[in-house]
Amino acid sequence: MELSIRNLSKTYSNGVHALENVTLDIPAGMFGLLGPNGAGKTTLMRTIATLQEPDSGSVHFGEVDVLSQKLKLKKLLGYLPQDFGFYPKESAFSMLDQFVLLKGVQDRKERKAKVEELLQRVNLWEARKQKLGTFSGGMKQRFGIAQALIGNPRLIIVDEPTAGLDPAERLRFHNLLSEIGEDIVVILSTHIVDDVSDLCPAMAIINKGKIIHHGNTLDAIRKLEGKIWEREIHKADSSLYQERYRVLSSRLFAGHTFIRILHETNPEDGFLPVPATLEDVYFFHLKN
Ligand code: ADP
Repeated sequence: MELSIRNLSKTYSNGVHALENVTLDIPAGMFGLLGPNGAGKTTLMRTIATLQEPDSGSVHFGEVDVLSQKLKLKKLLGYLPQDFGFYPKESAFSMLDQFVLLKGVQDRKERKAKVEELLQRVNLWEARKQKLGTFSGGMKQRFGIAQALIGNPRLIIVDEPTAGLDPAERLRFHNLLSEIGEDIVVILSTHIVDDVSDLCPAMAIINKGKIIHHGNTLDAIRKLEGKIWEREIHKADSSLYQERYRVLSSRLFAGHTFIRILHETNPEDGFLPVPATLEDVYFFHLKN
């Protein structure tokens, strides 16, 4: 099943245009929605999850008209919001048991089996008796995925899932996401470029409420291959290079400043060719 978004617009009462005519087709598999803070990602995710209404436009998931058939969509949806509430004094097992009950599984044995399967799947079985309030950021996110997986959803939305995770937790979370299944639509909304480049064969970039790029992740990187150049500079010369070249990004490495530029041919001038990355694609479109 595919998610098809057409001409979605939303202006908040304070006049902020959070979504402007967003049109996007999202196929099965992992899809990355990448954009800076305030770009409109959460607004888009919450609209798809039927938690808020757009001003205009439509969303279809397969045959389901998302905006008018909310209950139908909810049965197919697993949602891991940016901040999700749970009771800190509840154990992982009992909280999940209650979520499964809320999804309509009345039979205790069936519920127990489901909870066990989910906790095993997200690698939290050992911690099942631990109170949720004592969980690390990574454990909380994996618990969030367990609750999102109840009811075998066909569409999974995860909003900013790795913000605040340490590298090991992030890796574990990535592995978990990558195992979810290729026939399900999984939307990963994030401002972290590496999350998308690690996991998502297809992606879109959103900025100021508009989709500014959409397509195959590797194709987008390949298009810039051979055109990305890097060199170390003196920090004071930064604006000089900004004037002379199309600077995509500037980073510090071991206290030294390096800039990356887009240039069709060898610019000489001390620059060395480097492999293109998704971050180059991101800044190329963001700074267009
Ligand atoms: P992101 O998830 O990419 O950070 P959001 O969808 O949260 O972006 O926000 C998009 C824009 O809409 C931002 O400028 C934000 O301040 C604004 N915004 C979000 N929610 C509201 C709201 N309830 N009322 C007014 N403005 C909002």
